[in-house]
Amino acid sequence: MDVDVHHDLAAVEELFPYLDAHWRDYVVERGLPGFDTNYYPQASPMSVRPDLLRPDGPPPATDPATVAADVLDRTGSSTAILNCLYGVQPMQNEYLAAALSSALNDWQRERWLAVDPRLRASIVVPTQNAELAAREIDRTAADGAFVQVLMFVRDRMQLGKRFFWPIYEAAERHGLPIAVHPFGSFNHPNTPAGWASTYIEEYVAQAQLFHAQVVSIVCQGVLARFPELRFVLLESGASWLPPLMWRFDKDWKGLRHDTPWVDRAPSDLIRRHFRLATAPLDVEGPDGLLRLIDQLGSDEMLLYSSDYPHHHHDPGVGSVLGLPDDLRQKVLSGNARALYPLDRGGHR
Ligand code: ZN
Repeated sequence: MDVDVHHDLAAVEELFPYLDAHWRDYVVERGLPGFDTNYYPQASPMSVRPDLLRPDGPPPATDPATVAADVLDRTGSSTAILNCLYGVQPMQNEYLAAALSSALNDWQRERWLAVDPRLRASIVVPTQNAELAAREIDRTAADGAFVQVLMFVRDRMQLGKRFFWPIYEAAERHGLPIAVHPFGSFNHPNTPAGWASTYIEEYVAQAQLFHAQVVSIVCQGVLARFPELRFVLLESGASWLPPLMWRFDKDWKGLRHDTPWVDRAPSDLIRRHFRLATAPLDVEGPDGLLRLIDQLGSDEMLLYSSDYPHHHHDPGVGSVLGLPDDLRQKVLSGNARALYPLDRGGHR
């Protein structure tokens, strides 16, 4: 099971059947070319696997049948979760963001999930307004093919803040995990130390942002208030987490009076509530992966992902396939199946 697959619009016009007249006119009259972001610059070697660049074909990841063939048929994966990175969250107009979120979810349902029952998707939400986001979760979650809510590691504030709790309440109510993916809004510098100059600096710094968000979610009491909620850190790497867990536990022992609702060691909460996708894998080979699982203190946290169509030049699936049988099965499938509400069925 592949928990991080990206799909894309070939053109903003694909959303027009799902936007009401006002927002369709808004896009057309202003001549807006679409809402693509520059999270993955087109010419960057990381953005698209070279074999997916088809000069005479559609842009990568825009054709459902091709994506299903690439991520399911060719790999033997039985299920893939689509995570839409269209630029909803960076925009300042929360009403446009809400309209686009609804349109994207309807587009996902009709153009992708209906095409192949092996595809699942994350719900796109306008995190600019948590009330509207929760409403979108309630509207969309009835379709069993939506198995998760998608958020981003850079938002307007830390993800533990009560501002976002209506989103968490809705997700928990529907039994859906919250995915946290790199990038997001541009309201703050792209590193905690200030603005980076280059793409590599920004991409490396994503791990620092994940670090800050895990601490925020634990310390602000999200996990005490929503005990059934789970977070899936996508495309975050994983090697940074064991040192954070160690340091967090150590400092919690001395500073826990700040957060009396954190009633157990942070590492225990992290093991229970957080999962991590494997791409890009930032450890080397099966031995490195075994060491990482040992350091995490849990064999239930890692979920296989390809991050299609991105290209990380990492050891990837080869390291997972080299694990002992029981661990391999957990990472490739068992851990994800224990997490996601797949028994609600695919699109119907
Ligand atoms: Zn990704």
